[in-house]
Amino acid sequence: MYVTLLFDVEDLTDPRADDTTLRIAEIFTEEDAISTMMVVGEKARLYEKRGRHDLIQALGQHDLALHTNRHSMHPTVAEYLEGLGWDEGIAEAVARERSGVEDMERIMGQFPSCWGRGGSTWGPQIAPALERLGVPAMIYTFTHLQDRRTHIHRFCGRPTYYWYFGGYDSTFSDDAAFERGWQEVLDQITLDQAEDVPWLSLFVCHPSTVRARTFWDGLNYNHGVNTPPDQWRMSEYRSEADWYTAQRNLRRFARGIANMPGVQLRTIRQMNEMIAPEPTEVAAADLQRLAQQAVAAPVIRPDGPLASPAEALYLWAAWIAAGRPEGAVPFRYVEGPVDEPPAHVGLLSLTREQLTSAALSLGAAVDRSGRLPASVSVAGQALGVGALYRLLAAAVADPSLDPVTVVDAPTVPALGDVLAEEVREGVPGWMHKPDLNVSTHAAYTRLMSWTLKPAALR
Ligand SMILES: [Zn+2]
Repeated sequence: MYVTLLFDVEDLTDPRADDTTLRIAEIFTEEDAISTMMVVGEKARLYEKRGRHDLIQALGQHDLALHTNRHSMHPTVAEYLEGLGWDEGIAEAVARERSGVEDMERIMGQFPSCWGRGGSTWGPQIAPALERLGVPAMIYTFTHLQDRRTHIHRFCGRPTYYWYFGGYDSTFSDDAAFERGWQEVLDQITLDQAEDVPWLSLFVCHPSTVRARTFWDGLNYNHGVNTPPDQWRMSEYRSEADWYTAQRNLRRFARGIANMPGVQLRTIRQMNEMIAPEPTEVAAADLQRLAQQAVAAPVIRPDGPLASPAEALYLWAAWIAAGRPEGAVPFRYVEGPVDEPPAHVGLLSLTREQLTSAALSLGAAVDRSGRLPASVSVAGQALGVGALYRLLAAAVADPSLDPVTVVDAPTVPALGDVLAEEVREGVPGWMHKPDLNVSTHAAYTRLMSWTLKPAALR
């Protein structure tokens, strides 16, 4: 099993965090527990300002990733995306995150291996924004599939790592708490090995709160407030004796995980290299198999990994529009719809000819915009992409059907509703302004569930 160790390096107010981070980076290097350090863009700029070349060098022994450009400083990611449309939001995220990506490379000497959500602040437009910024992957997202074996997935085409485990900040300085934490790590790894989970992300800690009792942003940036630097409040610190204990337990942790039987440590940068590339074409037999699976499922399911529901729909349409050839159909990435597709209740029936016309319309729309339209026009009626997914799946699964008939059709994959609810519940909170409206964040996450699929490892 592959395990990725993660640290969030993010305290933007208290320079005492620098020496703590330095020591932790050194301990994990000494124990050969090479990790992915999630560093805030603003933090890299602070290291540069403070001339902390020692720290830049020590962190550079690990994989470096971007823990957002400005983390909890307002506007946060969810705040700057509030109320924006899909394309507007992508442009805004590119503009807001760009200096983080560039400064990390310039100051820290590594192009970020991924971008990771800060606190609870996130929006779905981040994924295509990262593609434009050249950042290869995303982590700590609100997107996931429903099986722990597919925590590495694609959302809007980006390789995406779902985090679900860890966080031992305050436990390192307390031997009894550390014993319990370490047992939790062992139990989780044992469980995942038994269930053939191929990859586990293990969030180790925020270096700053190994020593600070309170989070820097809770003190200075909660509920939408940007406290001016001359009024920053600093956390109470644990004792020097506690720090001594913490270093000993950090070393035990690093040594234990680096030498654990059956565990191979891999950074996000290394995992990115192991993700299988997208296909260039998909064989007709595979399209038929995907269609049979889709017909058998009661809901639209992003089971992949060959194609997301959006890509499967496009490929079926391309196959039918091309006259159902025996060979392969060229693969392409297909974005989800940005408007709500019409729902269909009751019986829906299309002749073979109408179906071919709908397939041609869909293919043309995708080739024009790169994304699924919400609907296509068939015999003067708007046919939603959910209905078209059901109809084309049936037609590809059994090419002899004429007419093709389905009963009821959803508008998005069922998982889209689950993820939208998680965004509505999980994104707001103390790090945002109290009146943050996350309705567009939830709605676009739901619509873009059309792009979900597992990411296969080579
Ligand atoms: Zn963070």
